[in-house]
Amino acid sequence: MSSGGCLCGSVRYAFEGRPKFTGVCHCAHCQKQSGSAFSVNLGVSEAKLTVMGEVAEYQDTAESGATLFRRFCARCGSPLFSVSSSAPGLVYIKAGTLDDTSTVQPGMHVWTASKQAWVGIEADALQFQQQPSAG
Ligand SMILES: [Zn+2]
Ligand SMILES: [Zn+2]
Repeated sequence: MSSGGCLCGSVRYAFEGRPKFTGVCHCAHCQKQSGSAFSVNLGVSEAKLTVMGEVAEYQDTAESGATLFRRFCARCGSPLFSVSSSAPGLVYIKAGTLDDTSTVQPGMHVWTASKQAWVGIEADALQFQQQPSAG
């Protein structure tokens, strides 16, 4: 069981098992939403995630064209989860909101076409210029 929450503690979550994947997203929308250089996302089955607290939602249109529901704490604004119309049943959890980040190990980088210039990627990392096809 892994757990996490927002900055103010109003929203808490827990999920069973290990993430299906961990990816770094360098898309321009993730940069805007996070106020940082990228998002680190854990792909978790929605059925395994329990959320407590009030989550607000912004309906975004991702650069891939998919509808992306970006969920954040209604009080402190911490980005917590995203759900994409292109990946039903999957929730992306922002890795920085985990209570314990020691096991986070990104396996791929996506949208490297919009990566900030200073960000270095390990040469052997799996990289995609845009969104890899789901499946
Ligand atoms: Zn909060
Ligand atoms: Zn992104």
